[in-house]
Order: sequence, then C-alpha cells, then structure tokens
Amino acid sequence: MQLSKDEFRRLGYMAVDMASSYLAELSVRPVFRQMEERERQSLMNMPLPVTPLSGDEILRVIAEQILPHPMGNGHPRFFGWVNSPPAMMAVVTEILAAAMNPSCAGGDHAAIYLEHCAVRWLMQLIGFPIEGSAGLLVSGGSAASLTALAAARHRALGQLGIDVRAKGVSGAPVELRLYASTHVHSCIQKAVELFGLGSECIRWIEVDEDFQISLDGLRQAIQEDLRQGRRPFCIAGSAGSVQTGAIDPLNELADIASEFGLWLHVDGAYGAVAMLDPGTRPLLAGIERANSVVLDPHKWLSVPVECGCVLVRDGELLRNAFSLVPSYLRTEPGKGIGNLPWFAEYGFQQTRGFRALKLWVTLAHAGSSGLEQQIAGQIALARYLEQRIEAMPDFELRSKGKLSIVCFRYVPEALAGDDNALDALNKKLMERVQAGGTAFLTSATLAGRFALRACILHYGTAEGDIDAMLEIVRSTALQVMNQ
Ligand SMILES: *Cc1c(COP(=O)(O)O)cnc(C)c1O
Repeated sequence: MQLSKDEFRRLGYMAVDMASSYLAELSVRPVFRQMEERERQSLMNMPLPVTPLSGDEILRVIAEQILPHPMGNGHPRFFGWVNSPPAMMAVVTEILAAAMNPSCAGGDHAAIYLEHCAVRWLMQLIGFPIEGSAGLLVSGGSAASLTALAAARHRALGQLGIDVRAKGVSGAPVELRLYASTHVHSCIQKAVELFGLGSECIRWIEVDEDFQISLDGLRQAIQEDLRQGRRPFCIAGSAGSVQTGAIDPLNELADIASEFGLWLHVDGAYGAVAMLDPGTRPLLAGIERANSVVLDPHKWLSVPVECGCVLVRDGELLRNAFSLVPSYLRTEPGKGIGNLPWFAEYGFQQTRGFRALKLWVTLAHAGSSGLEQQIAGQIALARYLEQRIEAMPDFELRSKGKLSIVCFRYVPEALAGDDNALDALNKKLMERVQAGGTAFLTSATLAGRFALRACILHYGTAEGDIDAMLEIVRSTALQVMNQ
C-alpha cells in the first residue's frame, strides 16, 4: 500500500501523462467501440494475482485493456443519455482528494467546510433559499431524490401523528399519494418502492403536448383522492425531464402544493442549472418555492462522476428524518469540536467521500460567468439543431424542449405516415450509428413512437458536430433502407 516518495512521483507522472494523452486524443478516436467478447471476458475473469503486480504493470494493464474502451461521453459527438465529459481541472485534483482521503461524515476538517461552501454555491446558482435550508452531496440524482423524499414522508406521517422512523409506514391510518407526470424520472418510483409505500402510491399524471404535467389532471387526481379518503402528500415535478428536457410549471405546482398542504419536490438533476442562463431562467421560476430540489453536478456541470446534490428547504426536518445521534450528543453551534452538525445526520451514508473538492474546483475554475456561458451556449446549440431539423424535409422534430435535449426522427418520403416502419428504421439506424463510432445518439419513446434523442452537454461540441451528426444520421438511414 505504501510507495516511496520517488516511486509515487514516478508513477504519478506516468498516470498524468496517460490521462493527458487520453483526453487530448479522445476527439480523434471513435466515439464508441463495441468490445470484443475476448476483451470482455479477459477483464471480467482476470484472476486475483497472488504475487503483487508492480505499479508499472498495473499502469500497463490500464493503458492496454481499460483506457481504449471508454463509454463515449468524453467525445464531442456523444449525444447520448445525460452524460457529460469531465471538467479537466477536477480530473487533475482528484488525486489530491484521494491523497487526503477524508470521510466527510462530519468533523472539523477542511473537506467539511468546503462541502458547505460548494453546496451554498449551488443554492446561489439556482436561487434556492440558503437560510434554514440544508444540502449535501450524494452519489447522484437518484440518491438525492431518495434523501429528499424520505424527508417528505417523515413530514407527511408526522402530520398524521405517526413517527415513521419508529412505526414504519404500516402505522399510517390512510394511504399516502404522490403525484408525478408520466415523464418523471424512474428514481421517484424506485424511492417510493424502497420506502415501503409501494409504487401504487404514485398517481401518474398525463402530460400535455409539450410534455409538461397536466395541471388540470393533477388537480382532479388530488381532489379525487381526497374524496376517497386518501392522503395526498407530495408532488414530484421535473425541472428538465430526461426524455425531452420538459420543465413542469413550477410556480403553478408550488401553488397547488401550498393549497393542499403538499411537499413540492423538484427533480432538477439535469435541468436545474439552466437557471444560469438568463434567457431560460424564467421557465424555472418557482424552483425557489420547492420543499426540496435535486441537482446533479455530474451532468450539465461536468463534475466528474459521481456528484449529486440534494437541497431541502427545512434543514432541521431533513435532520430529523435521518439523524441517529441521540439529541444530547448532537453538536451545537459554538460548542465542542466541529460545531457544525455532521453531514451523516442528513442522509443515509456515514462514511462519505470528498466529492466537494471536484465540485468546488469545477465551479471555481469556470466561475459563474464561465458556467453561464457554457449552459447558454449548449442551449443555443440545441436550438440550432432544431432549426436545422425543421429546415430539412427528411427530418421531423418530435419534441421542442427548452433545454439542451432535442428529439427527432428520420422520415424519408417513401415512409411518410407509416409510423411502424419509421420506428423500425430509426431504431435500426440508431444502433448502427452507435456501433459506427462517428456519433452517439440514444432514444426516447414519445407519444408511443420511437424518437432519436440528442442531449448536448459537452463543452467541446460545436455547430460543426451537430451538422456532422445529422449527416451521419441521414447517410446511415439510406444505408439501412438500401439493404
Ligand atoms: C440522471 C437523472 C436522474 C438520476 O440521477 P442519477 O445521477 O443517474 O442517479 C434523475 N432525474 C433526471 C431528470 C435525470 O436526468
């Protein structure tokens, strides 16, 4: 486990050289290359060496077997899912986080204060109230929603006189109901399943033609549940859905939540940081009224994976939902060492990694002006992609989100109107584009139909990459059709 200082430096410099070459050469390599079966097996089935491998041997295995097979998200023509390239300055400093190796459960060391700082910066960037709120870093949006919804459940059952931590949900005298559109991310369902509430506690609300939650549908569902003696407790809205980037009307959701006494949870894992773009900010108005907001710095902000963040307006409530420190042992401001309460009291994890360093580095290195420029630029690129699609008769736009996701399909004249044939063609061409390594797209199912989906998150993507991607889609479609 130990290296001499000189050996550490020698191997460290080799690793830095490998990383810098890797990053510099990414854009001239294929976006993605399927692994051969032999390569997969050789990684999966590698035996644990009995005699130690040397540092040089380990770096050689990484160079030969691991670095050549990235997921693809480092490449400027990667438009899949919601995965960004890493902010390079944060790659550089990850070695320092690992060298310090603190547990950020809590205590009186720099990593703790840096996490408080970086989380406050995120609150500021999205206009979330700071006083009285709590926030912490977690693995990602899923863990962040799980954390926030635990607080929502704690409050809802507390209002019914039930201590959910002692009695569990089986103590609830009525069925709880959570409301979300059919386009909300699956992590909401996973969370309520894990809470023992059962997925049937979710009332799925239809979306309108812009893929935003139907407010009439929401109101009707709440009223119907109340009539039937159920207990509505939470609305989970999207600030940027994963399929189309749709933003639910957050002010209206906040109005309905306060009218009925519900918790408003906003999943901004992907889109909350669009608050940085002055042109887009008004579309997210109301986010500051949410009881909880989730954002994922490892998505649009390019913080190296994993880095998610949960913000809860009533910080004390979040603490009450998780803290297992007897009240007489709780830290109090101004007393003892580490006067701040432990992060471990606000979530499920005890030992917690030094995620704050890469987040702080990324934000500081870009500055708020740099972040704004990046987000606004990528939103503008998505509008450019839309315009290009609308100008071409053999392409059809399938969603008009306001963020950096565009859904579309290829519609050759011969197949116009034949939705089944278009589904088959577009699915096949997507698979072929992915395997071809010149661009990477994924898909979304919209109105029951297959759509190609491009999510623009890479700091290096330019208009030329958008043009090239469209050309690749067209030529691949022609190949598929001519077979
Ligand atoms: C990615 C994403 C999630 C899940 O976050 P993870 O970081 O993958 O756990 C939730 N909601 C939305 C809108 C997302 O884009």
